[in-house]
Amino acid sequence: MMLIETLDQKPGPESDLKYKRVVLKISGEGLCTDGGFGIDADELKRLGSEIKAVHDLGGEVAVVVGGGNIVRGSQIARHAQIEEATGHYMGMLGTVINALAIQDTLESMGVATRVQSAINVDRVCERFIRRRAIRHLEKGRVVIFAAGTGNPFVTTDTGAALRASEINADAVLKATKVEGVYDSDPMKNPEAKLFKHLSYNDVINSRLEVMDVSAIDLCQRSGVPIVVFNLRTPNSMRDVVCGKVIGTLVDAES
Ligand code: UDP
Repeated sequence: MMLIETLDQKPGPESDLKYKRVVLKISGEGLCTDGGFGIDADELKRLGSEIKAVHDLGGEVAVVVGGGNIVRGSQIARHAQIEEATGHYMGMLGTVINALAIQDTLESMGVATRVQSAINVDRVCERFIRRRAIRHLEKGRVVIFAAGTGNPFVTTDTGAALRASEINADAVLKATKVEGVYDSDPMKNPEAKLFKHLSYNDVINSRLEVMDVSAIDLCQRSGVPIVVFNLRTPNSMRDVVCGKVIGTLVDAES
């Protein structure tokens, strides 16, 4: 576990990208206003601009979007006569709604996209096909992965780790509302310290809230680094792929 100073590096052209192929994991909350519900047009535009900035540099961007702004399986099952597995399927369908919103936002900005879903909804998007997803990325299309893993009882964090491992991504970029991973909750403790670097084992053993343990474990086994960063800071995603040291890097180094 290490706390280090921030280093500034200027963004460069495609060949200089530190992470050429990335999976951006954005929570459903990232599509609505703080404490809100559903989809907010301004938040969508802001997200679209961040993704476009990386795409314009030649980065290959895949997006795994959550659905917490619409339905969280375990919560809805707790409060209604709905079986938990059903709640999770509802949650996955919520992510399809979000994926379509991101798709049209990006297309309106001139960025070609494809949505691939882990649950077949053939009238609205493609099914997830690994080799086709990779081909889309190579052709410069942003691929939005919907419906997480397609299986209940897990979250889209695990979906992001899975897709990143499958498409040989250079990194998972985990978007949060704070600067990265802290030693305590920065919303409650103004003295909370930001970790600039953590190993996968640090995260798992200290039970730090980065992503689900299953997601961290899969990234560790696949050797995919995770960068946790604040997507609400303008150009932050571009800065990360260009190698600027921001947020928290999680990888195998101790
Ligand atoms: N979900 C699921 N399997 C998956 C991904 C998601 O069952 O592979 C369900 C789960 O109920 C989850 C909901 O979809 O609560 C929304 O996903 P998530 O909680 O990851 O969304 P986020 O918190 O990132 O917005």
